[in-house]
Parts: sequence; C-alpha cells; structure tokens
Amino acid sequence: MNIAAQSWERREATSFFHTFTDLPSLKTDGPVIIDHGEGPYIIDTVGRRYFEGNSGLWNMTLGFSERRLSDAALKQYQEFPGYHTFFGRNSKPTVELAERMLKLAPAPMSRVFFTNSGSEANESIVKLLWMMWAAEGRPERRKLLTRKNAYHGATVMASALTGKDYVKAFGLPGPEIVTLDCPHAWRFALPGEGDDEFAARLAANLETRILQEGPETIAGMFAEPVMGAGGVIVPPATYFAKIQPVLQRYGIPLIADEVICGFGRTGSLWGTLAVGQQPDIIVASKSMSAGYFPMGAVMLSADIDKRATAASEVWEEFPHGFTTGGHPVGCAISLEAIRIITEEGVFENVKSVSETFQSGLRALADHPMIGEARGMGLMGALETVADKKTKQSFSGDLRIGERISKEARDRGFIIRPLGSSVVLAPPFISTHGQIEELLAVLKEVLDVVYGTVKGEVA
Ligand code: PMP
Repeated sequence: MNIAAQSWERREATSFFHTFTDLPSLKTDGPVIIDHGEGPYIIDTVGRRYFEGNSGLWNMTLGFSERRLSDAALKQYQEFPGYHTFFGRNSKPTVELAERMLKLAPAPMSRVFFTNSGSEANESIVKLLWMMWAAEGRPERRKLLTRKNAYHGATVMASALTGKDYVKAFGLPGPEIVTLDCPHAWRFALPGEGDDEFAARLAANLETRILQEGPETIAGMFAEPVMGAGGVIVPPATYFAKIQPVLQRYGIPLIADEVICGFGRTGSLWGTLAVGQQPDIIVASKSMSAGYFPMGAVMLSADIDKRATAASEVWEEFPHGFTTGGHPVGCAISLEAIRIITEEGVFENVKSVSETFQSGLRALADHPMIGEARGMGLMGALETVADKKTKQSFSGDLRIGERISKEARDRGFIIRPLGSSVVLAPPFISTHGQIEELLAVLKEVLDVVYGTVKGEVA
C-alpha cells in the first residue's frame, strides 16, 4: 500500500464517524476510500477497481462518470445556483421537473413537492396526512401502517416506519405505528400455502388489525412495491390486489415508497406497475437524480392534493419544507437523469440485462448454501441457509453475508450483506458481460465461503 493511500485510511480513521457500518468488518477489512469512478466501476485510493454491484446505495444507476449529468449541473450552477420554494417562490428547473414527474407517474398524480432525500419525503407525508386529517376534523387519525422488514429511512419518523429490529433500541416505533406482516412467501407462507392463499391471509390479517386498532385512528399505509433494504422481497403477484380493497374500505391512503423501485429498478419504470399497486401518494428519490444530487419527491393524487390544499387553507399554510428542497441544480440534474434513463436506451438496457441477471441469480439457488434466489429487474438477493430443507439460517456469529461480501470485494466486486442474505442492484448501464462476470464471481465466492463454513459447523 503506498504512503498516500495509507494516509487516507489513517485520516479517515481518526476523523470520520461511520454510520450504518458493521464495525467488526471495518476493523478487520478497513474502509474503501474511493478516488474516482468509470462507468459502473469505482477506483479506490490505492488503484483497486471494483464493479459496483449495488449501484452505491441503489442510486448510482447511471454509473460514476456520466458527463451529461455533471454538464447539466454546471450549466444550472452558472445560470442560477440555488434557491428555495417557500413563500411562493420557485425556479424554472423545479417547475419543469414537477411537470415531467407528473407525466411519467404510474398512476394519475396531480401535484409534486421536492425534498433532499427519501427519509424527508416519507417524513413529509406523515405531516401532510396528519394536517389533512386534523383539518378534516379527524385529528385522531394518526396511526401509520407499515410492514415487518420495511425500510423507509433514517430520520425519526422514517425510522419508526422501518420494520427492522434495530429501531427498538431507539425506543421506536412508538404507539402510532402498526406493523403488519412481511409479504415474503418463501419465509412466512404456511406449509402447503400457495402464494395467492398467503396474500389472502395477509389481507385478512390487515383487516383484523385495522378493526382492532380502530379504522378511525389510521392515517395511512406505507409500502415499498418491492422491499429493498428488507432483503429484496417481491410480494406475491396478488398481494396488492388483495390488500388495496381493504384499505379503500376504511379510507386509508396508500403511500408507494418508490425510493428504490422508481425509474426502472424493477424492469418496469415504476415498481407500482410491476406489482399492481394503486397508490394515493408516491415517493421517489435515488434513481431520480442517478445519485448525482440529494433529491426526493412526493407526488399526490388529485384526491390527496385537493384535501391537502383545503387543509393548507384551513391552517393558512402547510408549515413544512426544507431549505434546499427542490434545489434548481438537483432538479436540472434529475431532468437530465430521467431523460437519459427514459430516452437514451437505458431503461431498455435494464429490461434486457435483467433477464441475464435474474436467470443467473435463479441458477445460484441450486447452491447447497442458498435457500432462495429472488428479485425483479436489476434488484436481487441470495438467501443463505444452513439447511435447505428446514430453511434454518446460519448462526449470526458466522457472519456469512459479511464473508461473502468480503470475498467478492477481494475479487473486485461490491455486493452488500444484509442479515442472512446478500443483495445486489447493479447499475442500469451494466452490460450483459458485466452481469455475467458478477454472477460468476458470486458462484466462486459462494463455493469458497461454503468450503470454510462446512468445516466450522461440522
Ligand atoms: N425508502 C426506501 C424504500 C429506501 O430504500 C430508502 C433508502 N435506502 C429510504 C426510503 C430513505 O432514503 P434516504 O436514505 O435518501 O433518506
């Protein structure tokens, strides 16, 4: 390791506080400090090159050297470098992006506002719903429905909506969150229960839970079309078709958290279309700016728009917003990212390479250590098991996911451990060849890790 690179690692070790980082792995493997990127590859400060099998955090969909995005940023910086949307102010790219998003929306949507992140978007929706219900004389409609293993962000309310065990350590989710079943058939369907029956059972459980809680206390339900950080959980085909009538029966708005799925990740332009969701509110982020600027968006249906506008009038305004929400540079970048994805063949590429990706992933389900290979479009996961028949996971102490990821990293591929699974989300610009290489390395790495684990559990 050369001296300059050692100093980067030392400098970060003594200055930077890592979050969402497995500290034992950081200690043994060290950080990866990136110097620059080329297409879907990142190159670290010691010159090691990695294929980014997760598109960073699902977001760098156009890779790391898209000049058209940096040019769009520079152009906007030189024209008008920054502003806000409070007090009725706005700027041209922000209005243009709002129009563009409404045109592309998967369901009729009537208005949009922007945030800096997915968490802020979800957080904003909670406040918007609380305002709306309160102004309609229903202030008791405050509870929010979410699902086990959901991920909706890291701010306080978005963490509360996140159905992961770690939130308990923060004293969350708190009394206003109602956590429903995770629609993961492989893990949670009863023996002999088909996908459709499983979906029907989850819909019946939803109704029971709504009645227990009191429909008059519920503000809305959040749901990712395909769960991402919960381990790429694709719901049964009829899941949303079955739960939506239940929500409609009790006037509960459905919020589609398209932060990961939006703009092509599932092989459909929106996850909503891939899973048959009919949302009242849609959240987008990540691919919207291809990760070149912090951006989030909330789209409102005509009904929610009308009601939220009426509520804002009652309250005189919706007291909410972020200094840099709807930033003109972020909007200019997003307009260009969306144009590249939808008009320059990138979305077509996603659909094409997804076939190679999904079939290759499914083939790895034959591996003795893999219980399930799942996914949709360019998102996928491999679930490791100690026993394929009982679906028993490995003990957490074996750190299987971390070991697979480390072996892959040593071979120049970034993939992400997630509990007992590893998840993959290659950039939208990946070629068939790059996807084939990723899958081949994965197979090799599974063999290596299985070889060592067999010895340890025997
Ligand atoms: N919702 C979903 C579905 C996400 O995957 C994420 C981030 N991974 C978020 C919300 C939060 O977005 P951010 O990290 O931009 O706040």
